[in-house]
Amino acid sequence: MFEPGYYRNFGLEEIARKVAEGQRLTIEDGESLFACPDVHAVGSLAHAARTRLHGNEAYYVVNRHINYSNICVNGCRFCAFSRKKGDPLSFELSEEQILEKLRAYGNNLTEIHVVGGCHPDLPLSFFERLIGRIKELQPHAFIKAFTAVEIAHFAQKEGIAAGEVLTRLKAAGVRMLPGGGAEVFSDRVRKLLCPEKLSAEGWLEVVRQAHEMGIKSNATMLYGHIETTRERVEHMAALRELQDRTGGFVCFIPLSFQPANTPLGKMEGTTGVDDLKTIAVSRLMLDNIAHIKAYWVMLTVKLAQIALYFGADDFDGTVVEEKIGHMAGAQSQQGMTRGEIERIIRDAGFEPVERDSLFRAVIRD
Ligand code: SF4
Repeated sequence: MFEPGYYRNFGLEEIARKVAEGQRLTIEDGESLFACPDVHAVGSLAHAARTRLHGNEAYYVVNRHINYSNICVNGCRFCAFSRKKGDPLSFELSEEQILEKLRAYGNNLTEIHVVGGCHPDLPLSFFERLIGRIKELQPHAFIKAFTAVEIAHFAQKEGIAAGEVLTRLKAAGVRMLPGGGAEVFSDRVRKLLCPEKLSAEGWLEVVRQAHEMGIKSNATMLYGHIETTRERVEHMAALRELQDRTGGFVCFIPLSFQPANTPLGKMEGTTGVDDLKTIAVSRLMLDNIAHIKAYWVMLTVKLAQIALYFGADDFDGTVVEEKIGHMAGAQSQQGMTRGEIERIIRDAGFEPVERDSLFRAVIRD
């Protein structure tokens, strides 16, 4: 952190005091941080909070993403991934095709991340069987699968409660929810951009139930479209409130909106400074969520490296074949090796720590 006088220049003196003393910030504090014209002032506060939690360590995971289908009954306007059934660009992987991909990746995966669209036909039994087969094939891997939106969709399709879906998927082998589909909790934004989607309250309720049955989750926020900075901070505050009750969130993932190939394609997308500020404000607002991810797939590797100085402590993973961000024009490569990620983290001045989905260190021989 800079000297207190430095923060006085930007009206952040009181916030700097709270950060130094580990006090909770208000929604208004979050707005003031977004409004601050000096990204270094905001970043330095976030870096102090991040260093207090994680020292010089920066985490990554050896993982693979499986996007089983992009067919979706919803039509979210920020989505470049989904297609209607029958569209020439739609895809749907069979159980065998998914297992084939996983076999090709070898058996040293720490995490398998499985998500897709809200498919109109696939029954819950398909996913139960799929998860069971993945578990059989990669017994050591941690299966992180299905957003709260998919869980609610399965429940609606089967005519059962979301809690029952979670119970069945947990029994099949799901150990964690990846946290997508939260978008921005603002009703105003959701009415305009994703009116068919599970509501904010619905998302929080599914996740609450998951946490209460021992299924941890991450939480995302899609920013950089039509939301205000206040709506971003309110989103963070809603997550913070749920975390106070359940303690089930592991990591927060700010996702920058990628306008290409979406109905909002004329929008300009975020700037690097906005991305860094959003990560920094997340670190400062979310005092009860241990980890903030710099998702290099969306940010680019170079900006993610800088983000480690703006409050982020996690670099995500080796990934491979990510489709959701890339169909929306993400310019990053589709995967990195452990060696590449470690070099990038070390070059930024941090100590790489390979982790599992719950951020426990992975020791390899
Ligand atoms: S964001 Fe998710 S729910 Fe919305 S259209 Fe895309 S895949 Fe479907």
